[in-house]
Amino acid sequence: MIPGARLILLGRQGAGKGTQCVRLSRHFVVPHISTGDMLRAAVREGTELGRLAKKVMDAGGLVGDDTMVAIVGDRLAQPDAVGRGYILDGFPRTVPQAEALDEMTRARPIDACLDLDVPRELVLRRISSRRVCRDCGTNYMATGREHAEWICDVCGGEVTQRDDDTPEAVNRRLDLYEEQTAPLIEYYQRQGRLVVVDGVGSPDEVFHRLTAAVHAAQR
Ligand code: AMP
Repeated sequence: MIPGARLILLGRQGAGKGTQCVRLSRHFVVPHISTGDMLRAAVREGTELGRLAKKVMDAGGLVGDDTMVAIVGDRLAQPDAVGRGYILDGFPRTVPQAEALDEMTRARPIDACLDLDVPRELVLRRISSRRVCRDCGTNYMATGREHAEWICDVCGGEVTQRDDDTPEAVNRRLDLYEEQTAPLIEYYQRQGRLVVVDGVGSPDEVFHRLTAAVHAAQR
């Protein structure tokens, strides 16, 4: 039986986190819990949370800590996450969220907090060509030679640019990352749980570095 894992993947937006999380979730057979995907689903469903989140997301801001902690707390209490573990993508994003997560996971602590390290300039270039399937979340890189209507290879959904991938919103998110999320790196470093993984390389190379880091942390 494949052992599960309880993981956090940190890193700048556009560092390739989403794609690597999908692969890691298949590898360890654990749910991929992406708070960004959960919020985008709420926006599509037109819930009250969705209406609130859309304004914040389009401006490149952060949804309030209490809201995010409640959403993640509910998700981590589901049987799949309790039984096998999870990979958290996009959470925690602030120190108060990390503190709340420590509380929630006291009985079953996180195995490793991985920081996917990619320089800001490279991330900016990657995000401007990023395209995402609206239905299954698969990420693609635009080359400029695509047909106007782009269909997802995995599920046949529509592949588009995210509303919050405009240069202004991306720059704001990267500034917010330095301000609010980068302190998390220090937070997990102090706890001795941070593993920095070089995120520059082919997706396969980076994936092998990540799995090796998790196996080492679980030993
Ligand atoms: P992502 O897909 O992770 O880039 O998230 C998209 C947007 O959702 C972010 O720019 C935030 O506006 C919001 N968001 C996602 N996760 C969080 C979180 N943990 N805390 C606050 N806002 C979040």
